[in-house]
Amino acid sequence: MKTGEYLDKRDIKSRSLDELKEEFTALGLQSFRAKQVYSWLHEKQVLTFDEMTNLSAKHRELLDNEYYINSLAVERKLVSAIDGTIKFLYRLRDGEFVESVFMRYKHGNSLCISTQVGCRMGCKFCASTLLGLKRNLDPSEMLDEIYTAQRETGEKVSSIVLMGIGEPLDNFDNVLKFLSILSSAEGMNLSLRHVSLSTCGLVDKINKLAEYKLGLTLSISLHAPNDEIRSQTMPINSKWNIEQLLRACRDYFEKTGRRISFEYALISGVNDSDECALELAQRLSGMISHVNLIPVNAVKERGFVRSSKQRIKRFIEVLEKNGVNATVRRELGSDINAACGQLRRDSMKHQ
Ligand code: SAH
Repeated sequence: MKTGEYLDKRDIKSRSLDELKEEFTALGLQSFRAKQVYSWLHEKQVLTFDEMTNLSAKHRELLDNEYYINSLAVERKLVSAIDGTIKFLYRLRDGEFVESVFMRYKHGNSLCISTQVGCRMGCKFCASTLLGLKRNLDPSEMLDEIYTAQRETGEKVSSIVLMGIGEPLDNFDNVLKFLSILSSAEGMNLSLRHVSLSTCGLVDKINKLAEYKLGLTLSISLHAPNDEIRSQTMPINSKWNIEQLLRACRDYFEKTGRRISFEYALISGVNDSDECALELAQRLSGMISHVNLIPVNAVKERGFVRSSKQRIKRFIEVLEKNGVNATVRRELGSDINAACGQLRRDSMKHQ
C-alpha cells in the first residue's frame, strides 16, 4: 500500500496545517477553512466530513472527493482486572494490525503506541520483530491510536510513549510529522515534554533527531553493559556498538539539555550478574541519565527467562552504590500480558 493515499484520495489527517492551507487554496477554498477542518480532525477528532458543521454541504462534498479521513477499528480490547490497563488491538484500513496500551497513573493516562507494522530490528527477546517489518505507519495512523483510545475510554491521554510495535527512528519522517501535529496548538496541543521515544540505537537518526531539539525524552534500549552480550541479543549492535551509541547520547544531551533514559531488560543468566551491573555503572558514569530496569517478558519462541526478584534487587543495589540512578519499571496489566507484539501475532495466526 502506498503510504498517504487510499482509494486515490489523500490522507487529510497526515497533513500539517500549513500544507492544508496550501492545498485548500489550490482547491479554491479560503485558507481559514484549513484551520477549521484541522481543528475538527485533531481537536474535536471527528470521523466524517459531515460532522464539520461550520462547512457548507458543497465544501464537505468537495473535501470528501479529495481526501479520506483515516480511522482504526478496534479488533480486540483487553481490560486488566488488576489495574484497569487496556490493551487495544487495532485493525488498519489495509487489514494489518497494531497494538496500543492505555495505562492509568496518578498523574494521568499514558498511551504506549506502535510506530510500524512489525519491525526489522531483530532483537532476540522481542515478539514484535519475529515476522519482520510489513510497513511504516502514517502520521494519521499514529494519531488515531490516541484518538481512538480516547474515544473508547472517554478519558484524556496526557502522555505518550513510542514503545509499542516498531522502531520509531526507522520511520523517522512520519514520526516527526506525527509529533508536530500532536503538539500543535490547533490540534491536541500535547507538549512534547509528555512524550518518550524509545530506540534500539539507530545512531545516525539519534544525531539527526538532536538537531530538532525537541522537548521529548529519548529512551535508549541498551539491555547490556558490553558489546559481547549486546551483540548476542541485538543485531543493531554490529552496526553501531555501545561506544558509538553512548557518544551519540552524550552529544544528544549536549544539544538538547534533555536527560537520557536507558532501558535494561533483565534476562536471567544473560545480563543480570553483579559484574554486569558494575560494568553498566562504569559505562554510564559521568552521564546525566536514568536506568529503567524491566524484568524481561518471556516470549515463548525465545526461551528467555526473567531474573528473580532477589537478583533484580541486588542489581539495582550495585548500580546505586556506583552512582547510577535506577528504578524497576512497575508492571501494569500483568493479567492481560501478552508482551508487546504478541496480540498482533496471535490474531494473525487465527486468520
Ligand atoms: N524499537 C524501539 C521501541 C519499541 S520496543 C526500541 O527498541 O526501543 C519498547 C521497549 O520494550 C524496548 O526497550 C525493547 O527493548 C523492550 N522489549 C522488547 N521485548 C521485550 C521483552 N520481551 N521484555 C521486556 N522488554 C522488552
